[in-house]
Amino acid sequence: MTSLGTLHFDNHFARLGSQYSSPLPPTPLPEPYLVSANPDVAALIDLDPEQLRAPEFIRFVSGNWLPPGSKPIAMLYAGHQFGQFVPQLGDGRAILTGQVRNARDESWDLQLKGAGETPYSRMADGRAVLRSSIREYLCSEAMHHLGIPSSRAMGVVGSDFPVLRETVETAAVLLRVSPSHVRFGSFEVFFYRNQHQHIRTLADYVIRQHFPEIAEAPGTTASHFSFLREVVVRTARMIAHWQTVGFAHGVMNTDNMSILGLTFDYGPYGFMEAFDSDFICNHSDESGRYAFSNQPTIAFWNLCCLAQALTPLLSVEQCREALSSFEPVYRDTYAQLFRAKLGLTSAREEDAALISDLLEILEGNAVDYPMFFRALSSFDSRADAPTAAAKQLFQHPEAFEYWSAGYRTRLAHEGVSEAERQAGMRTANPGYVLRNWLAQRAIDRAQQKDFSEVDRLLNLLRRPFDDQPGSEEYAGPAPAGLIVPGVSCSS
Ligand code: AMP
Ligand code: MG
Repeated sequence: MTSLGTLHFDNHFARLGSQYSSPLPPTPLPEPYLVSANPDVAALIDLDPEQLRAPEFIRFVSGNWLPPGSKPIAMLYAGHQFGQFVPQLGDGRAILTGQVRNARDESWDLQLKGAGETPYSRMADGRAVLRSSIREYLCSEAMHHLGIPSSRAMGVVGSDFPVLRETVETAAVLLRVSPSHVRFGSFEVFFYRNQHQHIRTLADYVIRQHFPEIAEAPGTTASHFSFLREVVVRTARMIAHWQTVGFAHGVMNTDNMSILGLTFDYGPYGFMEAFDSDFICNHSDESGRYAFSNQPTIAFWNLCCLAQALTPLLSVEQCREALSSFEPVYRDTYAQLFRAKLGLTSAREEDAALISDLLEILEGNAVDYPMFFRALSSFDSRADAPTAAAKQLFQHPEAFEYWSAGYRTRLAHEGVSEAERQAGMRTANPGYVLRNWLAQRAIDRAQQKDFSEVDRLLNLLRRPFDDQPGSEEYAGPAPAGLIVPGVSCSS
């Protein structure tokens, strides 16, 4: 166990050189206070959890003190935003304080998001508001505990320092922890600038640091091909998770796509409640480019942007071949995850229709997506058993009766006991997801300096598949009076 003062900083990204980032310290936030801290993530860097209560932790996250060995930088990148290429973005409000190596020889980026202006801030203020910091903090941890690859979050520190968005809000900093913050846009910036050597250096660096499974000799075309294919595969798997859990990211710009296939840069995301395949969680997304049902297509489009940026290393034919993995990997992962949700251990041809018919009736009846699958996890397949819990969620219960007759027949082909299947389904169908109203209630209280609901949610969402007596309210839609309006890009 280490303290903040004795963390083992390595800082391999800064060592890549000044072409990839700009050195600068965070801008201190005045009179900071702790909003929440997360011992799970402290453990990733072998940090003694007691340290989260130390004044140094608040001083570190708020940019008032840097641990010895850190080497703060802002990373350079570009990106396609809503389909338009922006040649230079970069960390406009985040400071990467460096990489810390733990006793298991894992390297973790410690990044302060909301740490003040950088050379990449453009016209913006370099800050993040408490609202969006809490949203990212809770959601990145919720995703991780749902088994979905994600960046992590160690804590949030706030200040009364005013920040102007639609209204005046207050500032906060999120301590984000991830194996890497390299994005698709980190490569695109050098393609646009015609700096092909930097693309090569960055690719070889990422392969060396993060893709040890790539067997081909470093620096070879074969290794670059395996790298692109692996990013394609990881991204396809991540999106299959999103589509089966009902997660909409909201801003799938290429600068928000992690090179490691992690869910990343949480903004106006949303978890599906009443099922709507065209769900648009971001009110600023007027054309619905990033609607729920578009996510697989957009992920592929984004991967094409990445492939284009790698054309100095790979032929167009090789790029095409690597990209061709997306469709089958996405389809197979989706089918596998969905079968688990339905308690099916074998694969049969009729499963695709069973799934699409189900989604159709969920949509037609505006059924709450997580509640339905949790209720279905206690479905009794014996012919004369009642189907109450799941059926109750339908406006037209006969739609469920009809579908469940086919489901029963399908389950008869499975050689698994009722109890075993139900237990399995409960590990695939979370009882708790971060519903918008839950996040908003925690934010409303936090804005009044009551941070207990943030901690309560963090704890709840650590065990999303467990029944948690006393927390029934957290498993359903907003009670009347707590319904919240949509979210925008403002953060
Ligand atoms: P995002 O939409 O949060 O992914 O951000 C897109 C780009 O805008 C990134 O380069 C961010 O660093 C930058 N950005 C967003 N908000 C701010 C802000 N308040 N101050 C400076 N840069 C920002
Ligand atoms: Mg971003």
